[in-house]
Amino acid sequence: MKLARINEYQCGPVVIGTGAAGLLTALSLAPMPVVLVGTGAKGSSDLAQGGIAAAVAPEDDAALHAADTLSASSGLCDPETVDLVTGEGALRIALLERFGMPFDRGQDGTILCGREAAHQVNRVVHAHGDGTGAALTKTLWAQVHKADHIQILSPAVAEVLILEQGHVCGVELASRTGKIRLKSEAVILATGGLGQLFSRTTNPDGVCGLGLGLALRAGAELVDMEFVQFHPTAIDIPGKSPNPLATETLRGEGAVLLDHRGQRFMKQIHADAELAPRDVVARAVYRAVKEGGAWLDARASVGDVFPDHFPTVHRLCLENGLDPVTAPIPVAPAAHYHMGGIATDRRGRSSQTGLWACGEVASTGLHGANRLASNSLLEALVFAPLVAADVKALGMKPRSMLPQSLIDRVASEGAITVSVPAWLRQAMYDGVGVVREEEGMQALHAQLVDWRPDEASERNLRAAALAVVTGAIGRQESRGGHFRSEYPLTLGRFNHRCYLNRQTIPGLAEDDTAYESKDVSHV
Ligand SMILES: Cc1cc2nc3c(=O)[nH]c(=O)nc-3n(C[C@H](O)[C@H](O)[C@H](O)COP(=O)(O)OP(=O)(O)OC[C@H]3O[C@@H](n4cnc5c(N)ncnc54)[C@H](O)[C@@H]3O)c2cc1C
Repeated sequence: MKLARINEYQCGPVVIGTGAAGLLTALSLAPMPVVLVGTGAKGSSDLAQGGIAAAVAPEDDAALHAADTLSASSGLCDPETVDLVTGEGALRIALLERFGMPFDRGQDGTILCGREAAHQVNRVVHAHGDGTGAALTKTLWAQVHKADHIQILSPAVAEVLILEQGHVCGVELASRTGKIRLKSEAVILATGGLGQLFSRTTNPDGVCGLGLGLALRAGAELVDMEFVQFHPTAIDIPGKSPNPLATETLRGEGAVLLDHRGQRFMKQIHADAELAPRDVVARAVYRAVKEGGAWLDARASVGDVFPDHFPTVHRLCLENGLDPVTAPIPVAPAAHYHMGGIATDRRGRSSQTGLWACGEVASTGLHGANRLASNSLLEALVFAPLVAADVKALGMKPRSMLPQSLIDRVASEGAITVSVPAWLRQAMYDGVGVVREEEGMQALHAQLVDWRPDEASERNLRAAALAVVTGAIGRQESRGGHFRSEYPLTLGRFNHRCYLNRQTIPGLAEDDTAYESKDVSHV
């Protein structure tokens, strides 16, 4: 391949992604000089509504939280990781308090804990009601802006990991005016999930599996790729992306699901009706949508207090011409959370030297086949300092900061976005959506194999999509977020996690890969 000459910079650790995982990793790397790369777009962290699960209430403890996490997981959790994450929860909440996170508190000043599905006790701490994610990222950004060890290189998109002797030794970025190469002994991917690979998703633009593609093409292992959690009640507005979320708490407060005849359908399907496990509700809503539509009716149960109790959902409804106080809200299942990702150990290390992953892009073994509500922000917050500690322990060569002129130049450029082709999003929703069947997945796989994009980010999208389809075809059973119509049962012989790499994904190995570092101008 003939490479263009691109300026290259040596630097300290590079963190890619500015959600909760990336921000806290960058902060925790102090005093090492860190380059924090972002697109300038909001991640899923900004949209989180329910809160952060952590055993901080007097009636709770880490062992109980661990037990709930294990029972929600459909059997594929790594118990040591579960103990690690649930055990560190209270410490991370204390850290956020020191950062000034405005947790909602009772009159006596203690942090309030909300209840969410499959938690035995009230355990979910929140801020500004259902505005926890925005409060969290605002709190972390305030710390990042104060930290003089962090340089923010934005807007820029990570496109390719650079390899030297088979190991990751940097990353190539695209900015509005050209490519930038950062050479570093430590690259940390914190690029979030993959929801935007699907036509219906709650994840914001840019959260589309790019980090998975980057890692895969650089030789790292992925795991549990087939497990995508679909939220049953995303607000269904044609042409709207992302789909706003009608939080589960609404059903907890008594909101009911109606079909196109205006009749409740969950009572016939599960004893817990609307409060059945997320995947059960998602499949029922999916069927109702196919038969004419599904609506969430909160008029009788929540009614007039809707604007006060659910300000974020209320605002999102009004912005889209819906009034949940007076009418049912149209809903559909939407890709919400990816349990799979880059396989990492308990230090956040990937299988590839020089590459770490943190947050939703990583698969640590915490979630198994199904995530317990509000465990994902906790996972990001627990692992970020662990990744940083591991990188710091490497004893990297001291590096200076990037030239300020580069930071300023990139900051002055316009936004850079990666959009996922509409055909791909629809094909993924149809082929590896809520209900999967062999024929549809094989057709999707063939379509992806035939697709040969030239553009680097599209290659990352293709690699991530191929990994999801390959994982889903291989798992001939139903479990957690993965449902196969021809194999509706959970089978003992699949009671293990499935690892993939670029050699084991049909159609990927012959594609290009990350490339060895050469032919660059050193700065
Ligand atoms: C609507 C909604 C509600 C949720 N509610 C909750 C909740 O209440 N509790 C909970 O625990 N979890 C919740 N989740 C899940 C949780 O928010 C996410 O799992 C978590 O925030 C992921 O954090 P992250 O830092 O890994 O990724 P993100 O916050 O998604 O950040 C990733 C960032 O990386 C950027 N990026 C991606 N690719 C590149 C690239 N190639 N180059 C540069 N930048 C890149 C993205 O643009 C994005 O800014 C919710 C998710 C959604 C969508």
